[in-house]
Amino acid sequence: MPDQVRSEAAGEGTTRFSDKAILIFLLVCTAFAVTAFLVLFFFIPYFGFQGIHPRLPAVFALLTGTAAVAVLAAIFLFIAAALRGRDVPFSRGLRSLAIKGLLPVLVQIGRVFGISRETVQHAFVAVNNQLVMAQVTDGRTPRRILLLIPHCLQYSQCPVKITYNVNNCKRCGKCPITALIEVSERYGVDLAVATGGTIARRIVVEKRPDLIVAVACERDLVSGIRDTTPLPVYGIFNQRPNGPCLDTRVSMDQVVAVLESVKAGRRSSS
Ligand code: SF4
Repeated sequence: MPDQVRSEAAGEGTTRFSDKAILIFLLVCTAFAVTAFLVLFFFIPYFGFQGIHPRLPAVFALLTGTAAVAVLAAIFLFIAAALRGRDVPFSRGLRSLAIKGLLPVLVQIGRVFGISRETVQHAFVAVNNQLVMAQVTDGRTPRRILLLIPHCLQYSQCPVKITYNVNNCKRCGKCPITALIEVSERYGVDLAVATGGTIARRIVVEKRPDLIVAVACERDLVSGIRDTTPLPVYGIFNQRPNGPCLDTRVSMDQVVAVLESVKAGRRSSS
């Protein structure tokens, strides 16, 4: 895969250094917080347990220690993935664990340091994209790809209903739907428009993709990634020149770069 395509596919142009820095900073803080919590969790009841049974403190120490090692290993593996920008062992499970267990903690820790929820979500999606693309280029090449786009990309005054059938679009070029249809045809991928999480889930069940390339805002991308885990979702942030949910835009260069990367991964694995 050409380096330029690889870097374009990694995020908005590339995974921004600040995204990585923010996420790694929050992960390190989380590691400290988890360790402190487990130490407290261990010592406070430890002495009380001695009164119940002499072996109970040792059993409790083993359980707490195992939990600490598992959580810290997951955090440091995620940091390694963010730093290397390449696949790491257990990356599939790691993404699931991170989106379900870790992200809410990262958002709370970010709040302590004045980092907005949206900034943390943005950083998380960018690093998630790295892991997804690393899987794609490390031999686990997807065959069925779904390009899932939000309804707000459609021109708000357009009378055509494209929710159930995107091919109803007249391709007038007033909004990005024309270009997205053309790209989906060129790369042979499914294209679907979702108006919300329920419809998005239904589309995913119907199409059964191996990879989803999803366009949405930070909040919807995070909930989409969480809902479909462990299915890999590559997230592309939409642009909102008119505010949220109205006549939004998407970088077609970025969409094409991601699909080119997948195509290159297919060629190298066949
Ligand atoms: S390209 Fe034209 S017809 Fe198609 S959805 Fe956009 S505004 Fe409607």
